[in-house]
Amino acid sequence: MKAIVAVKRVVDYNVKVRVKADGSGVDAANAKMSMNPFDEIAVEEAVRLKEAGIVSEVIAVSIGAAPCQDTLRTALAVGADRAILVETGAEIQPLGAAKLLRALCERESPRIVLTGKQAIDDDANQTGQMLAALMGWPQATFASRLAIDGDVATVEREIDGGVETVEMRLPAVVTADLRLNQPRYATLPNIMRARKKPLETVTPEALGVDVSPRLEILKVSEPPRRAAGIRVADVAELAARLRDAEGVA
Ligand code: AMP
Repeated sequence: MKAIVAVKRVVDYNVKVRVKADGSGVDAANAKMSMNPFDEIAVEEAVRLKEAGIVSEVIAVSIGAAPCQDTLRTALAVGADRAILVETGAEIQPLGAAKLLRALCERESPRIVLTGKQAIDDDANQTGQMLAALMGWPQATFASRLAIDGDVATVEREIDGGVETVEMRLPAVVTADLRLNQPRYATLPNIMRARKKPLETVTPEALGVDVSPRLEILKVSEPPRRAAGIRVADVAELAARLRDAEGVA
């Protein structure tokens, strides 16, 4: 069975982003870009399913401008078999991404789609869920363990206060949480090999998908700065200050 993995190119998690002066968004010009960390985990899981003989082909998909090819090559270097870039200069919101993934699911007929639980740029946490809804497939989000037996996937999900185990029939969507696995690094020979793996480019228009934004970003602002700390002489002063502090009875 085929697996599709969605990989988004985002500003690297180590980069401290700055808000543009006009508040219209984040200034990503010249920032280091990388694969969304949760998508690295999704790719690793798909590759492990292939290594276990459960999945026959892993198809990595990225949606965005031409440099997303680098992100796809990274996925190919850690074990994906082929890649599809949905090339567009348009701003892609989760619903647009989900519709594009649906078009590819209809074309490729995967039994499982793996996405990250959220993209660290928009923090939307919506694409996998929307894709499952559009396809009418079951979904298991925030997966921390995945086991597939025949047509049934058993998924452990991280929820408030514990772990929930759910069972669902394939085809299905799984979104990867942090503890699902520890992604491997791409080795140099595999990076070289990845250059020869197939990478196809399509457009939203060719897939017949309207990706026009449904949400309008009104304003992006920095979080409030933390006030400077204070030093107290002893525990008695600390207790007194806490007692007098606003909101403390
Ligand atoms: P989000 O709903 O934006 O938080 O994204 C959740 C997941 O959907 C990401 O971790 C990716 O796996 C996938 N995804 C969202 N946008 C894209 C994109 N432009 N290209 C590829 N995958 C995407």
